[in-house]
Amino acid sequence: MGALHLDQLTWEEVKTEIQNGRDTVIAPFGSTEQHGRHMPLGTDAVLGDELGWGLADRLNAFLAPTVRFGCSEHHMAFAGTISLSDTTFRHIVTDVVSSLSHHGFRQIVLLPTHGGNFKPLAAAVAQIEPVKDVRILAFTDLMGLIGAAFKSSSKFKISPAQSGAHSGEWETSLMLALRPGQVKMERASEGFVGELSEIISKVFNGIEHLDENGVLGDPRPATVEAGKQYLADTIESLYRWFCEQKNINAKGPVPHS
Ligand SMILES: [Zn+2]
Repeated sequence: MGALHLDQLTWEEVKTEIQNGRDTVIAPFGSTEQHGRHMPLGTDAVLGDELGWGLADRLNAFLAPTVRFGCSEHHMAFAGTISLSDTTFRHIVTDVVSSLSHHGFRQIVLLPTHGGNFKPLAAAVAQIEPVKDVRILAFTDLMGLIGAAFKSSSKFKISPAQSGAHSGEWETSLMLALRPGQVKMERASEGFVGELSEIISKVFNGIEHLDENGVLGDPRPATVEAGKQYLADTIESLYRWFCEQKNINAKGPVPHS
């Protein structure tokens, strides 16, 4: 089994797969926004593609194309960032969900891979009318994701402040593992390495007030080796989250509806 890219199949193939029971789909929500002087604007969308694929693979699910714009108002001080309003984002979430449920998907997993999307996603899902026999599972635990990242980074003796919340060691290592040709390590510099509570209270007023380069954390110790570990750890924690939602034992057989 394994994962399938929704947008690489014909409609006939998609229909057959759903009829044969492959009725779970992962829909990632990334962003197009600044990631410091050393990483591309598409970083969160790459994470959507790759984490989404990893989770879909564990669930024998479809992976829908990553939505490559998100709620990035707090990054607008930096060139190239494209931001959606919460209202537009909510409409996209609603339309993606209603299209997928229309075609017979029974489990729709919404996976944000950009911090600014978590809250609007939770708000959007709360407003979606329930559809009979369709389960919407939205990963809205941003602090859980950050906590898991810090735990992974600690395996490499990286502090939470270095691991960071945006373009720090954790995210840069992931990109070194996934898209090494797109990371300019010679341009990497230490960003804001203060308390997470200060980040949470200030970041949505504009990340430039915390660091002029747009970095929260310290990307300089990032490595490919750490990135591979973070990818595996994050996919595992997403899988465990999914199993908790499904109320089944993560060590048991692959869940399939
Ligand atoms: Zn990011």
